Amino acid sequence: MTRRKILYVVLDGLGDRPVASLGGKTPLEAADTPFMDELAQKGETGLMDTIGPGIAPESDAAVMSILGYEVEEYYTGRGPLESFGAGLEVPEGCLAWRCNFATVDEDWKIVDRRVGRNLADEEAGELAAAVQEQVELPAATFDFKHTLGHRACLVIQSLQHRLSGDVDNCDPAYARHGVFSVALENPGDRVVEAKPLKDSVSARIGAELTNDFMRQSYEVLERHPVNQRRRAANKMPGNFILVRDAGDSLPRLPSFQQRYGTTFGSLVEMPVEVGIARLTGMGEVPVMSTGADPERGFADWADKTLAGLDHFDGLYVHLKGPDVFGHDGDAQGKARNIELIDSRYFGPIVKALTLPDFVIAVTADHSTPCEIKAHSADPVPLLISSGGLEPEGALQFGESECAKGQLGRRRGPELVPKLIELANT
Ligand code: ZN
Ligand code: ZN
Repeated sequence: MTRRKILYVVLDGLGDRPVASLGGKTPLEAADTPFMDELAQKGETGLMDTIGPGIAPESDAAVMSILGYEVEEYYTGRGPLESFGAGLEVPEGCLAWRCNFATVDEDWKIVDRRVGRNLADEEAGELAAAVQEQVELPAATFDFKHTLGHRACLVIQSLQHRLSGDVDNCDPAYARHGVFSVALENPGDRVVEAKPLKDSVSARIGAELTNDFMRQSYEVLERHPVNQRRRAANKMPGNFILVRDAGDSLPRLPSFQQRYGTTFGSLVEMPVEVGIARLTGMGEVPVMSTGADPERGFADWADKTLAGLDHFDGLYVHLKGPDVFGHDGDAQGKARNIELIDSRYFGPIVKALTLPDFVIAVTADHSTPCEIKAHSADPVPLLISSGGLEPEGALQFGESECAKGQLGRRRGPELVPKLIELANT
């Protein structure tokens, strides 16, 4: 039990750079955000390198890091986390992949990495079911599951061997660096055959099974009625499964309870964040998807946050809104999305909570600057509001204001211990 309850809100891809069309302000600075500004004015601000200076993170590793788990020590790759979050079993010694439905020509040249971004969930579900039913791997079993849009995951288990995650990406857009993948500036346009990254039986067999899976699933998908209908409607067929970010085990994370003696609940919607929250032993507070109707979605999350605070010492809330706009390079859209989060999510919360009784932190998992349409190493803005802090006089919540803040420049893993400390003072 902590003295004060903790509300820890992560806005996916919030951080950005000054944008000329916003008068030289970042989307967060340009957005009208009276409620987050009030939190900043009553608390302290700073900047945070979510994994470390100079590292442009993917969400999964960043989230582990900002929940206090050093990535070098715990991270085992995106494939296992994504699969676990999607509800698949990920036993030790399996080969777990993160996948995309893609469109390829007959020579496996990639026409579109995401099937034109218009593969409906029902279509992808049907395609995935056909793959699960019709592909047969020698002396191995697999689970293939569609998650959202063009995304899916795959877990292969050999009946005879332990498999290894040391198998290179088949998606040419990403290069493996240890357990991480890095997006390439000028990627090749052809599917890459799965290759072992280490000279071991477990990596070699993993690569062979993966190649077998890609070949067979291509044949199943190529002739599937869903894709025939898509072609007839002048849409790209989802005829290939691109795999990347292999891993062979889940990260072993000591729970929040063990580490900090506190009970935490989570409000999350992306499979990978669901997976991480579960691995840290957090409870789950069910929430509405914010994709279809963000206005209603954010309001629902505010209700569930207020109700959830009654049941846990703290809540971790991960809202995915701003990131997509960063990837699309849509600075106005990003600013509008941040305004919506402020009014619909933070509005009811700031009105309902008596600040001295809570510790509220707002930050991001990484920056997704509209200028580069990708995650960057720019540090993210951070605010902490609590009865235990002297207001430092920040005027608003924004990158340049945070750069002058009292909290200085922090590393991601330092944040949760700081929040726990404040909750106990
Ligand atoms: Zn993210
Ligand atoms: Zn992103």
